[in-house]
Amino acid sequence: MPKKVIDHLHEAKKTLFSFEILPPLKGKDINLIYETIDPLMEFEPKFLNITYHREEVVYKRHKSGLLERKTVHKRPGTVAIAAAVKYKYQKVNVVPHMICGGFTKEETENALIDLHFLGIRNLLILRGDPLAADKEFIPEKDGHAHAIDLIKQINNLNKGIYLDEELQNTTKMDFSFGVAGYPEKHFEAPNMDADIYHLKKKVEAGADYIITQMFYDNKKYFDFVDLCRKHGINVPIIPGLKPISVKRHLTILPSTFNIDIPEALAHEVRKCKTNQEVRQVGVEWAIEQSKELIKHNVPSVHYYTMGKADNIYNIAKAVF
Ligand code: FAD
Repeated sequence: MPKKVIDHLHEAKKTLFSFEILPPLKGKDINLIYETIDPLMEFEPKFLNITYHREEVVYKRHKSGLLERKTVHKRPGTVAIAAAVKYKYQKVNVVPHMICGGFTKEETENALIDLHFLGIRNLLILRGDPLAADKEFIPEKDGHAHAIDLIKQINNLNKGIYLDEELQNTTKMDFSFGVAGYPEKHFEAPNMDADIYHLKKKVEAGADYIITQMFYDNKKYFDFVDLCRKHGINVPIIPGLKPISVKRHLTILPSTFNIDIPEALAHEVRKCKTNQEVRQVGVEWAIEQSKELIKHNVPSVHYYTMGKADNIYNIAKAVF
């Protein structure tokens, strides 16, 4: 039986190394994923996450001048990728992300059945972002509006309750899962207290641990952990780090993720003449962040690879 992420966190004698990978773009090869994972195996990750990317709306301009609206899945195949990675890296627990966006409850159930058949037991449960074309998150007609609703469906399946209530002698699933937390507040939440309230509901519904949104000032993480503890959220809180790698991150990351980039970091990035230099600044900043987090005995430092391993490798080499 695959181990649960929470068991790894409880058993660890020191801070773990973990990371997140993206499925390759449609038309690309699965080996791209292995090229990301292979070098990082040196740091003995106990689990690795696989993101899920919902459909996107694209507009194609025809010669006539008319715009055609199309939805495309640019990175399909999470269930298959989770299985391929599990098969290839047998010592590592794969943690596919499950989101609400773009899924009806039945499609969710079917994906969960597939994952369960494949022996996958760890999940990260998320709502997903609004489509770029929408101003706010719009659930599918028979889908979930919030991560907590998807959690409730999983809890039901863990009790053997499927959508079709007439099914008899059903198999009980045994998924365990983590959820997302936001040290600088989720962009839609009216205030931090409201965000923490909903985070606590996810934990009370069974989330074993929290993985945070990226942050560039460790104080934001430490304050967030203190706030969670004050509100009775006592599960492990894994810090998520994404090294800056291109200059435009200075504007895109704050507007997309509601996060601040400290002036000291922004200043160093602005001075760079090439993106290679920016990448190096990002690595150095993440090394300092990681060292301080490890000193504070965080459960794991979780890195967002964005499909490229070289910067994460350099960070991990310096700190693990
Ligand atoms: P929720 O917990 O549903 O919260 C969303 C907002 O609604 C928050 O403001 C919250 O305060 C509020 N809220 C929560 N519950 C309720 C309720 N019952 N009533 C009213 N308000 C409520 N996105 C992807 O598409 N794919 C991924 O693979 C992916 N991986 C991620 C991994 C991590 C570690 C993180 C931090 C984020 C990831 N995301 C991913 C992004 C995530 O989907 C977005 O941040 C999304 O906007 C919110 O997801 P959530 O699970 O936090 O949502």
